[in-house]
Amino acid sequence: MLIDEIKDCSKCGICRAVCPVFFIVNDEVMSPRGRISLVEALIEGNLSVSDRYTDIIRSCIKCTRCADVCPSGVRPEKIVQSAREMLYNTTYTSKTIKEILRSTLDRGRFRNYIVKKFREDKPDNTVPLWFLPLIFHGNAYLPNLAEKTVLEKYPEDVNNGRKQKVGLFIGCSINYSNTDIADSAIDVLEKLEISIFIPKDQTCCGVPLLFYGDVEGAKELAKVNIKAFKYDDLDAILTICPACGITLKQEYNRLVNDSDLKTKVYDISEYIAKFTSYNTRKLDISVTYHDPCYLRLGQEVLAEPRKILKGITDYIEMKDANKCCGLGGTLGLLHPEISQKIGEDKLKNIANSNADIVATGCPGCILFIRDMLKKAEINKKVLHTVQILQKSLLD
Ligand code: SF4
Ligand code: SF4
Repeated sequence: MLIDEIKDCSKCGICRAVCPVFFIVNDEVMSPRGRISLVEALIEGNLSVSDRYTDIIRSCIKCTRCADVCPSGVRPEKIVQSAREMLYNTTYTSKTIKEILRSTLDRGRFRNYIVKKFREDKPDNTVPLWFLPLIFHGNAYLPNLAEKTVLEKYPEDVNNGRKQKVGLFIGCSINYSNTDIADSAIDVLEKLEISIFIPKDQTCCGVPLLFYGDVEGAKELAKVNIKAFKYDDLDAILTICPACGITLKQEYNRLVNDSDLKTKVYDISEYIAKFTSYNTRKLDISVTYHDPCYLRLGQEVLAEPRKILKGITDYIEMKDANKCCGLGGTLGLLHPEISQKIGEDKLKNIANSNADIVATGCPGCILFIRDMLKKAEINKKVLHTVQILQKSLLD
């Protein structure tokens, strides 16, 4: 029961020290403990929902840093998620938001909507980051929409007949826009002699819907994806985006009661580091790595990307690599000023590392960090770990 989980919180406040949002705003209601108290007050009828209430509940990044340090084993981000699900069916979730979120249930409609809104109506053909998949930063811009999505470009079966066979989950941001990351991932897997299954029927993982508490919508997407992957035939399902990864690994079990799936899902860097061997050449570049929240804290994948990068580059660990870059789920959309302040720290640590290239494992972090570097006129490339590995693999 949710209320029992809430009562496990001793209100000690230890979690306040690690919450990136509280660190910037220094307001108790925006701390993990404060959010738990707000959910408790709502359940016990001591508080009613308001715009301010909804805003506070939706400004948690769900980075899980609080759960990481809680001595009582409380999961504040899960309590926040339950509150979001309670808020979804109230008037505090606008009809427009619901409509856009629900458009992800119909891939054709979703694509047409994006193309109409951002290719035909906008002369510069750029897509505001908040649209894909509605969890990104309002003031930054994605690269152009791809002429061909990843799912249009590749056949379902690539490199058939190899000893290992994996399914590749593409995710919306990479499918529609950051297609170069998928190109690198597919090339790397081919070079590693792995067969790849890229089902055309796969769809959005459901994370934007879950962020707003639309459990029923997310359930529908989970069912479509599980059916599309027919995962009995696969050694693993690989994700290239940590938000998709954490959703498949942790949320699908809850949504559709499928406990087998999570044992098959790996982040691509996790799978490559654990289950493959390869020959590389050392690259003459220095690289620093940023831990995406949903990869390090959500999936405990932190050693694997470092292992890959240390083997092929001059690796430099930046200060506070595991701190959020500032993108932070819906935070950038709701509170760009907090998002930007969190980002300033990341920028400083990247600059101080003096590395030539910033590597990370999340398409959202890549775009957000690129945008910050550009605005600060710092000339550094930001690449996905597989894009760097691709450059070093020998044929
Ligand atoms: S969530 Fe955990 S760390 Fe935070 S106040 Fe409650 S018991 Fe303390
Ligand atoms: S999940 Fe992250 S942002 Fe949310 S309350 Fe915990 S530490 Fe703060």
